[in-house]
Amino acid sequence: MIPYGKQSIDQADIDAVIEVLQSDWLTQGPKVPEFEQKLCSYTGATYAVALNSATSALHIACLALGVGDGDIVWTSPNSFVASSNCALYCGASVDFVDIEVSTGNMSIQALSDKLALAKQQNQLPKVVIPVHFAGQSCDMKAIHHLAVQYGFKVIEDASHAIGGYYHDKKVGCCEYSDICVFSFHPVKIITSAEGGAALTNDPTLANTMARLRSHGITGNPDEFNEPSHGVWYYQQQDLGFNYRMTDLHASLGIAQLNKVDTFVKQRNNLANTFDTLFADSTGITPLACSESSVSACHLYVIRLESCTPDQHKFMVNALREKGVFAHVHYIPIYLQPYYQNLGFKAGYCAEAESYYYSAITLPLYPTLTLTQQEYIVSTTEALYLECTSSDES
Ligand SMILES: *Cc1c(COP(=O)(O)O)cnc(C)c1O
Repeated sequence: MIPYGKQSIDQADIDAVIEVLQSDWLTQGPKVPEFEQKLCSYTGATYAVALNSATSALHIACLALGVGDGDIVWTSPNSFVASSNCALYCGASVDFVDIEVSTGNMSIQALSDKLALAKQQNQLPKVVIPVHFAGQSCDMKAIHHLAVQYGFKVIEDASHAIGGYYHDKKVGCCEYSDICVFSFHPVKIITSAEGGAALTNDPTLANTMARLRSHGITGNPDEFNEPSHGVWYYQQQDLGFNYRMTDLHASLGIAQLNKVDTFVKQRNNLANTFDTLFADSTGITPLACSESSVSACHLYVIRLESCTPDQHKFMVNALREKGVFAHVHYIPIYLQPYYQNLGFKAGYCAEAESYYYSAITLPLYPTLTLTQQEYIVSTTEALYLECTSSDES
């Protein structure tokens, strides 16, 4: 079976982890700040807070921006559930902005229309979380413009997008957002096994997130509200968590970050090869790529024109039977039973649903071979022909 994603681990990664195992610090040692510093110099952001997952990063990013009871957070329905669960953790409510089918990203038009309506109804969001679907940045300048106009904060969910660019700047530099979140889960661009990070240019947000990562505790005497009791003293100032990344994970993250540009280049080359191989296929359209930005190419997604949900399901099943682990990204979040219980109903975001019933994610990872790509494309084309022609007869 050709998997849809796979990590690339080499001897340098293995050596990096072993070095930490043989050191004095398995956690809370020097590797975490080193990883954070390297994330900053790579992206251009001023501060990075390394965490045990992107889910934790999204949670404390919301908390640092003051999201709480009675607040509203908006995100894209075409994402993993963590993009919206983070708001619910904070006691806020969540709403979804429909997508642009050609890219799978939040539609700027839909966002703009929804904001105008929300303003009339006094229901403006406190935070909007755009998701850089498949590694392609959303139109951050346009989102920033709306953020200024309507007074909301922006968290980029860049779980798919480390190594990508928005125009000529790296995703993660936070030029047009308050906080940007990465995931280092093994299916993503680089991995620390489990792990994530929150980047920002705001010292207060960085400090708050660092405190929330570790129980809400600070050991910095400058931040104490009463004189220190002694050298052992620390203060818990917020209700925080244990969301820390270990030094083992950080060392793997550092070794992987050294290779991020290579991985992204390989992924872009593979995606270009797929695009070329699919160029003459009628009825199969690869996801659109922006001219002005570089995608990190986390996922390679095709859309089937004029297919029924049954044909779509047939395609994914049949691809798996033929050894191609096709997947679907994503089930619109609000169709999950948990969200339907909150009142969301099928049909809520028409574009996200029509996208969902026509999109297929094909395998993409740096060591995928040309032979495998040719097999994936010819199998996909043959199955598409099979299911669409049997429909006509
Ligand atoms: C993977 C992913 C997450 C969650 O990342 P973890 O590191 O597994 O917590 C959040 N959002 C998106 C869009 C993702 O793809």
